[in-house]
This record gives sequence, C-alpha cells and structure tokens, in this order.
Amino acid sequence: MGIKDIFRTKRFKVNGRVLKIINRTKVEKKSLNKIYAIIQLFFSENRVARLLPRITIYIEEEEPALGAVAEKNAWVIPKELQSHAALHINALAIIGDFNTNKFIGTLVHEVGHILQEQLSHSLLRRNKGEERLKAILSKSSFKKNYSNISQDWILLLTEIRQYLYWFISALSFEGTATLLSDIQKQKIYFDDATKEALYQESEKSINNLIFSWKLVKVQVEAKNLQKAKENWDLMKKMIKVYAYSIGKYLAYTIYFYDEKIELREIALLKTQPFKFIREYQEQEILKGNKIPIVSLKKIGYLSYNNILAEWAALIEELKK
Ligand SMILES: [Zn+2]
Repeated sequence: MGIKDIFRTKRFKVNGRVLKIINRTKVEKKSLNKIYAIIQLFFSENRVARLLPRITIYIEEEEPALGAVAEKNAWVIPKELQSHAALHINALAIIGDFNTNKFIGTLVHEVGHILQEQLSHSLLRRNKGEERLKAILSKSSFKKNYSNISQDWILLLTEIRQYLYWFISALSFEGTATLLSDIQKQKIYFDDATKEALYQESEKSINNLIFSWKLVKVQVEAKNLQKAKENWDLMKKMIKVYAYSIGKYLAYTIYFYDEKIELREIALLKTQPFKFIREYQEQEILKGNKIPIVSLKKIGYLSYNNILAEWAALIEELKK
C-alpha cells in the first residue's frame, strides 16, 4: 500500500472483522457510495465473505497488473495475496453495467480466488508454472528444434501452447470460483436433471472447441499462416469463455459426488489443476457413467495429453 493509498482508505469494522476499501479512482461520489454500500453489506452478511476475518478491496480504474487472475469486472493478484487478502474491482465496468446481484456474484468469485490462494497457493503455483513454460519455450535448445521455421510460426505455436496450459489450469480455479458464485446467486441446484443439462452444455462446448482446434491444425499443416491465425483467434475466444463454463461443470461434478466436501472447500477443490481434472474424470466415469468432458488420459472428449502430442506434431510438420 503506497502513501497515497493511506489517504484514500476507509476502514469498517463488523463484529471484529475488518474491511478496508481503498479508492484509486476519480469516480463521482454518488456511484462510489453505491459501491461502498454493497461492499459493506457483502462483507458483513455474505456467507462466503464471512469466511474471511479481514479483506482489502481496491477500487480501480486502470487495467490489472501483469500476473493477475482477472475477469472484466475484477481481479486478484497472487503475489499480493501472500501478504493480505485483497481483491480489485474495475469501477468503470461495474458502474457501466450496474446490477447489485451481478456485483455480489463478482465479489464472491474473487473471494473464491482468495480462498484458493490461502488454502493451497494454487494461483501462485500456476503463475510459476506459466513462467516455467515460457522459459522452456524460449530456451535456445528448444528453439534449435525449429531453427528452420519462420519467426511468425514460432510465435503462433508458442502462444497456442501457452493458452493450452492456461485453459487446463483455468478449468480448476475459474471453474470452482464460478461454481461458488452460482451457488451464492442460487442459480444452480444439485440434482440429476441439472447435472445432465450441464453435461450436455459442456459436451456441446467441448465439441466446438475440438472442431476449432481441427481447423487450426488443418491450416498449420497447409502452412497457411494467415488462415491459421484467424482460426486460432476464434479458438482463443472459445477457450476464454469455456474455461469458466466447462470448469464450473467439472467442479460441479466433483461436488455432486463427493459427500465429504464443504462450501469452503469448493473454492479449494483440489485446485492443483491436474489433480482437479483427475478427480473429475474418475467421478464422471465411476459415478456418472459418462464419457469425461476433459481428461488427462486417452479417454474423454478432450484429452490434454493428446492435444499436446498433436501440438508437438505440428512443429514437426512445419519443419518439413
Ligand atoms: Zn476468476
């Protein structure tokens, strides 16, 4: 917290729990007061918020810092969470589309991320995983592998590889945070019919994603950079949306079948990405009797291992 922040801080105490709100915007008072009122209500009464003894909420009008786990309306910064429970809201996005329920849903989603970090350091670990992958992809020994491929292709293939990792890890932390927010909004129920509806929706989504991946592959194999980029842009958009909805279904399935799990643990829910998917695929096969939507084995609609193997094959293809 910088010196400037000290003057912009409001501190509230609710039964010994402490809420700090730091306004870093020039938003007009009327809108600001509305935001303050909802945050206070949320902090004092919401059952997810009450899992936290203290929280700092930053009201921002600038873009999230690098490394943030971000949505359009709000974000958390894994590094910052090592010292205190904090979330950031995008004031302009919230005010531009003001809806109390949606705003509270956003706050719950972000508190879900805070719990994930506090309970298992899953967000920081994921940041580190991302950095490791970046380092591997830019290593000269790895680059030698494709010394006769043009820079544009390398950039594209590198981005694809990074997004595949983002998708597979976001399934766990965005999926669980989204489920938590839906439970809070009472938008979701636990029964066979809901499970089936969510399965079908995820089945459709994953088939769209697989189809778009095929389109990317075809264009890479044809060595048509322009078309490959276009198809990849479409796939990237899908990845960003489906990580939340498919991830939510995965988290839902684990919660649906695991009798011992509690609300607090939904945020955590084995948020080590691979453990989370392994857990999901086992539950889906054993108790749901269905083909897993995503898996790490050679089963299910989308196998992460298979897709990585296909990605590696594309590089071989480009070398020819
Ligand atoms: Zn999120």
